[in-house]
Amino acid sequence: METSLYNATVASKIMVTPDLMIIKIDTDEPRKEFEAGQNTLLGLYGFEKRSSNSEPELVPAENDKLIKRLYSIVSAKTEIRQLEFYISQVKSGQLTSRLFNLNVGDRVYVGTTITGIFRLDETPEGTDIVMVAAGTGIAPYISFLRSHIIERPESKMVVIQGGTHQWDLGYYSELTFLENTFANFFYVPTLIDADEHWDGYRLCIEDLLKNDVLQNEFNITPDPERTRFFVCGKPDMVSHVAEWLHDFGYTKHHPDDPGEMYIEEF
Ligand SMILES: Cc1cc2nc3c(=O)[nH]c(=O)nc-3n(C[C@H](O)[C@H](O)[C@H](O)COP(=O)(O)OP(=O)(O)OC[C@H]3O[C@@H](n4cnc5c(N)ncnc54)[C@H](O)[C@@H]3O)c2cc1C
Repeated sequence: METSLYNATVASKIMVTPDLMIIKIDTDEPRKEFEAGQNTLLGLYGFEKRSSNSEPELVPAENDKLIKRLYSIVSAKTEIRQLEFYISQVKSGQLTSRLFNLNVGDRVYVGTTITGIFRLDETPEGTDIVMVAAGTGIAPYISFLRSHIIERPESKMVVIQGGTHQWDLGYYSELTFLENTFANFFYVPTLIDADEHWDGYRLCIEDLLKNDVLQNEFNITPDPERTRFFVCGKPDMVSHVAEWLHDFGYTKHHPDDPGEMYIEEF
């Protein structure tokens, strides 16, 4: 079988849940320095085995075809030899069911270019930054924080992470550590079906925003001049938050048509 496009090796794999993993991949050649929040392709051939808890593929993969999908990079922008990803398994999906079957030492394809316009470096210095995430949408923010938190002491930076149960909060310990370390960083996890041990918010992200938690707790107003919003995750949540921001005068950012809300759906 043709495996020559494989150009990287799995260095570590942490199962956060049976359908959620943090995987680190060593590339044979270092990548060019990228910007925090950008993404690249991962790929495996159709002949690779699928995970034991996957379900029949909606569209069966062809054996000799390299299946490629985009993934946000979690690593700091200077980590150009080893890339970290936070991936959720789509049980009937082509690529994730194969990625979840990988073990340390297995070979994989990693894109040779890194792209994307979901970038913290395009926000004006001094503006407050609100990062809203559901599910694996937290991935680009970990890259933002690992790369830039130390450079932006004048900006308040807030991560709002929504989930269902406690175990949905990937990177909880890293985010809690950052909150305890940096006076300008605030972490707001919110869960809609947590057990009785949870003493945080129990609202969906949309209700948390509508209840003025940002204003009341951190004195952050949804004002396009003063506060930039990043929104990343499932399309429903992203479109509800974008609608809410639209009412405050926010427009979607594109490098050719700059706006104050940055959107990434997946
Ligand atoms: C810029 C960008 C960054 C991304 N970053 C990440 C990331 O950091 N982590 C991550 O896990 N994913 C990320 N994705 C999504 C990723 O590219 C794949 O779409 C996803 O992993 C599914 O691939 P698959 O081959 O397993 O499923 P496919 O075979 O492509 O899809 C099978 C079926 O499942 C549906 N489906 C696809 N994705 C989902 C989903 N998430 N939930 C439910 N159903 C779905 C499809 O519509 C299709 O019907 C990103 C996507 C983009 C565009």
